[in-house]
Amino acid sequence: MFRNLIIRWTVFFIVLTVVYFVVNAKVHAVAEASLKSAITVTLPVYTKDELINNLESRLKYLYLKTKGVKFYVYKVKRRENLWTIAKKYGYSVHTIIGCNPQMKTYNVNEGQKLLIPNVGGTLHPVQPEDTIKTISEKYGVEESVLKNTNFALNGDLRQEFFVFVPGKRPLVNLLNEKMQQKYALRELFVSPLAGRITSAFGKRRHPVTGKASRHGGIDIAVKEGSWVGAAASGVVTVASYDVGHYGVAVFIDHQNGYITHYGHLSKILVRVGQRVKQGQLIARSGSTGRSTGPHLHFTVKRNGVNVDPLQFLW
Ligand SMILES: [Zn+2]
Repeated sequence: MFRNLIIRWTVFFIVLTVVYFVVNAKVHAVAEASLKSAITVTLPVYTKDELINNLESRLKYLYLKTKGVKFYVYKVKRRENLWTIAKKYGYSVHTIIGCNPQMKTYNVNEGQKLLIPNVGGTLHPVQPEDTIKTISEKYGVEESVLKNTNFALNGDLRQEFFVFVPGKRPLVNLLNEKMQQKYALRELFVSPLAGRITSAFGKRRHPVTGKASRHGGIDIAVKEGSWVGAAASGVVTVASYDVGHYGVAVFIDHQNGYITHYGHLSKILVRVGQRVKQGQLIARSGSTGRSTGPHLHFTVKRNGVNVDPLQFLW
């Protein structure tokens, strides 16, 4: 009877011990599995092409990789252009171009989508040789600024596609080929002065005659007597106080197929045959000739044909 009880209890304890170990092992296995799956949450995998051509993918990528900067997908509205959009956000068009490597032209259409950051800067496409030091040197920006803006810079850069560089323009040699060509054109000339463009190139009603005509250049409204600078270096071919409807005007031959005209001036500071440098002061603005108010008329001719000066000015 007593022996029987011992055997029963012994069996009971053996069973209990076995059950304990089995349950324990199971619990461990489950915990480990859930821990593993928690650690190996897979990040979305992107290809470079996808990040360039798909705004939503780029937006998600940047959401994970950057800090202190917000990106939005912006839909271009009617009559908007890169300049009006950039102005709305308080930065230059370079920011929009730099954050939109899919763009091949400056023209944007209604409904077109752009990736827009809340602060000025550019996306740097990570190059095979890049380190945080080389990126900092390429843009002239502190490494700490890059680190504060990009989570990616704490890890292996070779795994990354884009780094946001605050306050900087895109590097021209890293833009796509079409954009590189556009930038090259714009490096030819600087604006002859800072002012509001009142009349664009192309079809318009003439402000004096009232007739429909083609405008061969642009009009920039400025105060009488403003300094006018050469848009690029060249040789003065005309510097006269009577050039027909231009009134007082200066023409400069840039000796690369381009000629620029500056009209409705009040005072000329250069003479024919003189070599001038880019930005050198050549005249003071006025309202001479066929003009309705103080402004500078600015024409760019390429191989004798008028071209839109805005193609060359930022
Ligand atoms: Zn004009």
